[in-house]
Amino acid sequence: MSATAYVDLSAFEHNVSAIVREVSPAETWIALKSNAYGHGMLELADNALRAGATGLAVLDIPAALRLRSHGIASTIFAWLHGAETDFGAAVAAGIDIGVSTRAQLDAVATAPGVGRVHLKIDTGLHRNGFSSSDWAEICAHARELEVAGSITVVGVWSHLADAGDESDDAALARFENARAAATGAGLAPELFHIAASSAALRNSRARNSVVRVGIAAYGISPFDDVDGHNLGLKPVIRLESTVLSSGTGQSVIAAGWFDGVPQQPDAEAWVAIDGGRAAVLTVGPRHTLIAGEFAAGSTVVVWGADGPTAEAWAAWTNTIGDEIVTGVPAHVRRVFGRG
Ligand SMILES: *Cc1c(COP(=O)(O)O)cnc(C)c1O
Repeated sequence: MSATAYVDLSAFEHNVSAIVREVSPAETWIALKSNAYGHGMLELADNALRAGATGLAVLDIPAALRLRSHGIASTIFAWLHGAETDFGAAVAAGIDIGVSTRAQLDAVATAPGVGRVHLKIDTGLHRNGFSSSDWAEICAHARELEVAGSITVVGVWSHLADAGDESDDAALARFENARAAATGAGLAPELFHIAASSAALRNSRARNSVVRVGIAAYGISPFDDVDGHNLGLKPVIRLESTVLSSGTGQSVIAAGWFDGVPQQPDAEAWVAIDGGRAAVLTVGPRHTLIAGEFAAGSTVVVWGADGPTAEAWAAWTNTIGDEIVTGVPAHVRRVFGRG
């Protein structure tokens, strides 16, 4: 065994419930993209809904279809589409489809059945979405498709950059304008969503009718100035390994960067072992060296409950907590439990 990732379903449900309470009356959709940020999409889906989420958000339609086949009956939202995307399968499975281009809109409309469409307005990120200048025309076109019985526009959405108060205010104003223009074009969307974790937790004006929350549900703060614990969130994933051997004041752990231990941490980095801390010396591909001699077989908590946080590892390796947890590779065994 190299490393094992323990996924605490009670901690996940605790976080989802806390977020649901905080943002209510807005609904909460939980983002399960990237295999639920490395935690396990199919294993967490039911738990998110049981804890009060009303929908799930994944990147692409194949992931949405996997959730549907797994028995998930709630709203499933998918928004990233490639040239090969099978919109027919998505419409047939009742997936909520985020649409960013006219070609996507027409492809959904052409599929048999009535596609559930969420039109994306670009409110300043310039990644994707319709521009403000195209918006009126797209809404008019979408309304024609609706009248023809090909689609129904159930939502208008965007993504907030969290680039500071002023630019967020400007983005929210653009979002409001888009919403008004959609209604003006005769559309009657009921779902308006722009906030991810950070805006959902700190900007009540951004919540609208739905928030799409990812990282906070996994117990990791979306902010630089406060960690998950201080937000009342619990870490969900715990990466553990064991001591292989020791000598000359050091011990070798049976996991390295190939197993999800982040590379090149700075000198502050530590892991938990025998109820204390051991400094991390070097992280190799399959092994990590720590300071101190520990008995072979001793359990090492790389991060998670009883160890350093994923946020701490993010600070030590100059990244964000999302990357630490999502970076646990697929070959690392996940063990799902409670507590
Ligand atoms: C990843 C993502 C989210 C969730 O973001 P967090 O910051 O992890 O909460 C929401 N919406 C979209 C479009 C995303 O890509």
